[in-house]
Amino acid sequence: MIKKLLKKITGKKEEKKYPNRFLKHYYLHQDKLNKERRGSYSGRKKAGICVRCHHKAVSGIVFCDFHQKLQKGYNKKARGNK
Ligand SMILES: [Zn+2]
Repeated sequence: MIKKLLKKITGKKEEKKYPNRFLKHYYLHQDKLNKERRGSYSGRKKAGICVRCHHKAVSGIVFCDFHQKLQKGYNKKARGNK
């Protein structure tokens, strides 16, 4: 009974909108990958974690104390030399 029902449901899903199983796999995988990619930057930003390492970020910026200073140093150098 349950097996039959499952077969019915999955069978319906299969023929829903994907032209073939390779494209279906691709779309499903892509969706997952996109979510993971988005989570890496904005997820950390939201969580208050530095986007360059795993330390706690300074509130208001996306870097920790160390990487903020590093970033400021780079900016100073770039402006000073040119
Ligand atoms: Zn950092």
